[in-house]
Amino acid sequence: MTAQLNPRGDVAVLVPAAGAGVRLGPGAPKALRLLAGEPLLVHAVRRIAAAPSVYTIVVAAPATEVEAVRAMLAPVAPVTVVSGGAERQESVAAALAAVPAGPEIVLVHDAARALTPPHLVESVAAAVRDGHDAVIPVLPVVDTIKEVDATERVLGTVDRSALRAVQTPQGFRRSVLVAAHRSAGDALTDDAGLVEKQGGAVMCVPGSELALKITRPFDMALAEHLLTTGA
Ligand code: C5P
Repeated sequence: MTAQLNPRGDVAVLVPAAGAGVRLGPGAPKALRLLAGEPLLVHAVRRIAAAPSVYTIVVAAPATEVEAVRAMLAPVAPVTVVSGGAERQESVAAALAAVPAGPEIVLVHDAARALTPPHLVESVAAAVRDGHDAVIPVLPVVDTIKEVDATERVLGTVDRSALRAVQTPQGFRRSVLVAAHRSAGDALTDDAGLVEKQGGAVMCVPGSELALKITRPFDMALAEHLLTTGA
């Protein structure tokens, strides 16, 4: 049985949450690390479930934690939990395979972007609904970017006006994401990259500072602070 949220929703959200989180230091899998007393995954799922277009959420959990994650999320939202894979792409593919018939828009959202606001879920879904096959939320790049060689010698300065930092949720017409994963060769960190490799068009929408990826201890401290300010 696949758990359902809004029966009139047209969006399935896949949440890969099976990563180890090595960059956060030793401890539980990243999605299960506590932020203000609750796992990152709980924060993430609560915000996705608050987006009115969402019909179903499928979480890919670490293989050893599937039952624990199911129990953890039961009071938060009706969620389907599957076992993730060794690579993020495998985790996404496992979650995609568990999406029931119905929703024609599929979003892929990292559990590590735990404070992503529901309105970003809605704006990405709306852009897919408007006819874009693949949609990514982005922010402008604020730092000056240099290209370097293997010895850290600067080769040149990149024109940052043409660069964007990419967040999740990334949104897709369902058939486009299924085809992209079917033909996936090497592992990419980003699902839109699979669509690009197939020659598909990917459109940007404005991202959110709150959708930061909680990767290092500094991000955790920043996220704690953002929560105290109402994120
Ligand atoms: O490792 P990275 O920060 O790129 O992970 C991004 C997201 O993908 C995280 O939410 C992580 O839990 C998930 N992931 C996964 N399965 C893996 C590796 C990462 O679901 N094998």
